Amino acid sequence: MSSFDQELQSRLSSIREAGLKRTLRDVTSPQGPSITLEGRVSLNFSSNDYLGLANHQALKDAAARAIRDFGAGTGASRLISGSLAPIQLLEEQLAAFKGTQAALTFSTGYATALGTLQALLSKSDIVILDKLVHASLVDAARLSRATLRVFAHNDLDDLEKKLKWARTRLGTTDSKAHILVVTESLFSMDGDHAPLAEIVELKERHGAWLMVDEAHATGLYGPHRRGLAEAQGVSDQIEIQMGTLGKAVGASGGYICGSRPLVDFLLNRARSFIFSTAPVPAAAAAALAGLQLIQSPEGDALNQTLWTRVQQFNSGYPPAHAGHAAVKSAIVPIIIGSESNAVAVANRLLDLGMFVPAIRYPTVARGSARLRVTLSAAHTEQHVKTLTTALRQMNDGGSQTPE
Ligand SMILES: *Cc1c(COP(=O)(O)O)cnc(C)c1O
Repeated sequence: MSSFDQELQSRLSSIREAGLKRTLRDVTSPQGPSITLEGRVSLNFSSNDYLGLANHQALKDAAARAIRDFGAGTGASRLISGSLAPIQLLEEQLAAFKGTQAALTFSTGYATALGTLQALLSKSDIVILDKLVHASLVDAARLSRATLRVFAHNDLDDLEKKLKWARTRLGTTDSKAHILVVTESLFSMDGDHAPLAEIVELKERHGAWLMVDEAHATGLYGPHRRGLAEAQGVSDQIEIQMGTLGKAVGASGGYICGSRPLVDFLLNRARSFIFSTAPVPAAAAAALAGLQLIQSPEGDALNQTLWTRVQQFNSGYPPAHAGHAAVKSAIVPIIIGSESNAVAVANRLLDLGMFVPAIRYPTVARGSARLRVTLSAAHTEQHVKTLTTALRQMNDGGSQTPE
């Protein structure tokens, strides 16, 4: 073995010894309430496909039509080879859906975060992140070279403290520098909601900008399903609304919705947009079909089914059991603590035919490993019951229990 591979093998051994080794598992079926995982059919509680759109006929048809009319690939970035009709249409409809002046799409949500923060911020600025924001936002904040501060998760007092500190610091150094607060609206590993109205009030009081990542809320909350910002009535006061098209929308890609100047600026300065081949037409067309479906009566029905399943899960396996507070969320964490216990519980569920991923460091803090149950409108009442029954039985017997 070469010394290069030896070095990597030894790093991998440390990862394994810490109970953190990850491997890919083969799936030979489409996304859905059950999937064929390593050759076995399992109930799937791992996917962010909250409305069951990833394998929906309308999205597949839209993708197939886009391939027929616009081809499989895009050849270059949109600034070089031109902007394909399906992507243009998606952005128009996204802006209309969100009620903003404009929208810009990226190949992924991750690329969206990287490009946006790097474009908007420079070394003289200060970015203040919620402690639990997604890795893409942390990486993006680092890439931006702005001074980075973290506030305790959903802690308004701590946020205000950091805002005051930032204001004082900028006041003495650079009056043209900016403060940007970044949070998620629905947190991806805890399923809890950010107090957006209060955060808006604070950032206005201290003259900061606000970016909210609605990755897990788009399509699911608010009268028009725009997200939690709409549900909390503060969409118009958020400078930068981010999200992904890969979760409830059922396709792939990321977006920024906001003012026309914001979008025009990003397409001039966001490097992950400028220096990357445009997303394939099939992805844009599927995302557009997903957005349209979300806004249709069928979308309303799917939303209702989803919240019914969430309620069924919570009554079958109450939040207090799972070690988290009850909120309206299709993400239900079951806090276990030790990394190896979390994996053991997940493996036992898998033996019983239920795929619930164990989430470990570095996705969550060390020692706060958990099962992350995600529910979908595609689950049946029986699917949910099978899971809650198994969880309760594991709680009642055995040592490696989810408590
Ligand atoms: C999934 C996720 C992203 C990344 O989006 P992708 O489209 O999967 O790259 C960004 N932010 C949050 C909060 C997410 O959960």
